[in-house]
Amino acid sequence: MEKIYMIPVNDAYNESCGCPICRLRDKAETNYLEYYLGPSLMEPDTRKVTNKTGFCPEHMGKLNKAVTNRLGLGLVMHTHLKDFNEDLNPKLKSAIPAKAGLLKGRNPDYKQKLNNVADLIDKRVNTCPICDNLNDAMGHYIEVICWMFSHDNEFKEKFVKSEFHCLPHTSLLLRQAAKLSQNDASDFVEALYANNSQTFDSLISDVEYFTLKFDYRNTDKPWGTSKNSIQRSMRFLSSDGRDFDEQQGKKQS
Ligand SMILES: [Zn+2]
Ligand SMILES: [Zn+2]
Repeated sequence: MEKIYMIPVNDAYNESCGCPICRLRDKAETNYLEYYLGPSLMEPDTRKVTNKTGFCPEHMGKLNKAVTNRLGLGLVMHTHLKDFNEDLNPKLKSAIPAKAGLLKGRNPDYKQKLNNVADLIDKRVNTCPICDNLNDAMGHYIEVICWMFSHDNEFKEKFVKSEFHCLPHTSLLLRQAAKLSQNDASDFVEALYANNSQTFDSLISDVEYFTLKFDYRNTDKPWGTSKNSIQRSMRFLSSDGRDFDEQQGKKQS
C-alpha cells in the first residue's frame, strides 16, 4: 500500500470534527490550486496541458479567489484563450448553415454540425486538470482508508470514532468496500453504518429542536447543540462546505 497517502489519511483522521475525507479533499485541492498558480505554470509541459484544458468553472472561481499570482493566471488564461479560439472558431465558421436557395436546396447536415460544435464547447469547458488530479488522489485515499481499516487497529479505532463521513464520501467508501473480501467488507460497512445512523439520528433531533425553538414558549430554553444544526446537516448531506459556515446562520437569526 502506498505510504505517501497514509500520512495525510492519518492526519485527517486525527482531527475529530466533521468528515475526515472532506478534510483530505480540501487539503489536496488547495495543493493543486497552489501548484497551478506556482512555478509549474512556467513549465512547458504544464502549459501544454492547461492551454488545452483551461479549468472547470468551479476551479476558475477558486483560482480567481486565490489571487496569489495574478500575472501567472493572466499568462495561463492568455494561451488557453488562443488555443480555444484556434480550435473552436474555424469549426464554428464552417458550421454556419448555408441559406437554402433555389439552386442549393436544403441540406439537413447543418444540424449535426451545430451539435458537434456544441459538444466540443461543452467538453472543453468542463475539462480541468485540477479535477482530474483531485479525482485521482481521492481514489488513492479511499483505497488506503479501506486498507488501513483492515490492517491497522489504531486507525480502525479512529475511523469508528470519527464524527461523521458526509454522504457523498460514504458513497465513495461503499464503492471501495464492494471491492473487498466479504469479511473485510462486513466490519467496514458495520462501522460505516453505525457512524451514519448515529449522525442521522442526532441531526434529525437537533434540527427538530432548532425548529421548536421558534415557538414562543421555548424562547427561554437553551439552544444546546441545535444552534448550528442546519449547517452541520448541510455539511453532512453535501461534501462541499463552502457556503455552510455558521456565521451566515448567525446573521439571519
Ligand atoms: Zn466528506
Ligand atoms: Zn475543476
